[in-house]
Amino acid sequence: MIQLRVPGGLIEAKYLKVIQEIAERWGDGTFHMGMRQTLNAPGIKFENVEAVNTYLEEYIKEVDVEMCGVDMDVTKAGYPTIGARNIMACIGNSHCVKANINTWELARKLEKQIFPSHYHIKLAIAGCPNDCAKGHFNDFGIIGVTKPIYVKDRCIGCGRCVKVCDHAATRVLKLENHRIVKDSCCCVGCGECVEACPSSAWVRPEEKLFRVIIGGRTGKQYPRMGKMFLNWVTEDVILQVIGNWQKFSANVLHHKPMYIHGGHLIDRAGYQKFKELMLDGVELNPEAQVAQRILWAETEYRANINVKPMSQHPSPGEVYTLEKPFNYGGGH
Ligand code: SF4
Ligand code: SF4
Ligand code: SF4
Repeated sequence: MIQLRVPGGLIEAKYLKVIQEIAERWGDGTFHMGMRQTLNAPGIKFENVEAVNTYLEEYIKEVDVEMCGVDMDVTKAGYPTIGARNIMACIGNSHCVKANINTWELARKLEKQIFPSHYHIKLAIAGCPNDCAKGHFNDFGIIGVTKPIYVKDRCIGCGRCVKVCDHAATRVLKLENHRIVKDSCCCVGCGECVEACPSSAWVRPEEKLFRVIIGGRTGKQYPRMGKMFLNWVTEDVILQVIGNWQKFSANVLHHKPMYIHGGHLIDRAGYQKFKELMLDGVELNPEAQVAQRILWAETEYRANINVKPMSQHPSPGEVYTLEKPFNYGGGH
């Protein structure tokens, strides 16, 4: 199977012809929308790989080099590395009203930071803390946030922002004497209050801010949800931090790339070392926050869960009474 990178999940529709051509000429006639937003053509025979790679030269040049500004030589040998996985992104503010950022624009800038790389990295970008892109299950989840500004004079005291924050976010707003009071400790920067306000009394500031979640992963042994590493950082900081990933990976793996989830790499280095290397040379913006420590709680897949085999499940319609109870097993 061949996978075409689609940084941020958005490219011109004309490229659908590329995957169609590959699928019909060399594949089995189908295409699969990859879990990481790649365009995949299954069923390509080994003897056709060279022809497909030659055909892909133009696509790689246009998408990676010209669209994203990736610094690499494009040859007829296809993609030069597979370490850095396709950057996923939700649609962001080009379509979704909840978005605080343009996700695909950021994805294109980050493509340049991570590709080509032999070091493994999975990165997902979400336009708001709803995290539809599932950044919490990637090595890096980058989430657009905002610090809404309250313009007191425009407020008509309707209380809609309080209701929406209560319902959809973290319940940090209160109406007191027809004015809003905010407990800024726990605002998650979703921007729901901005969207709900009928008189534009909540305003998103010009500068885009981000949260960075690290160490999330799926997998058979130790799936886990990522945790917050940075909060309220600028795009500039994001680009610098992710730009340090290859250096960090090389350091931990002694310059020998291997297939290992970023979360495992962070565990191997220890959070303090990870923090030191990833923030090396990075100039943080004044409102940036960095997690002092991270404590992980892994999912325990080896728990003694007494699941009965299907053969021992009750048959449909079987009736259980106090005299004849259903035996759940488990030895109790
Ligand atoms: S994460 Fe937020 S911005 Fe992105 S699609 Fe979901 S709701 Fe919209
Ligand atoms: S940004 Fe979200 S969490 Fe913060 S006050 Fe507005 S609705 Fe509440
Ligand atoms: S929704 Fe807007 S106008 Fe209504 S209370 Fe909140 S800030 Fe004031």
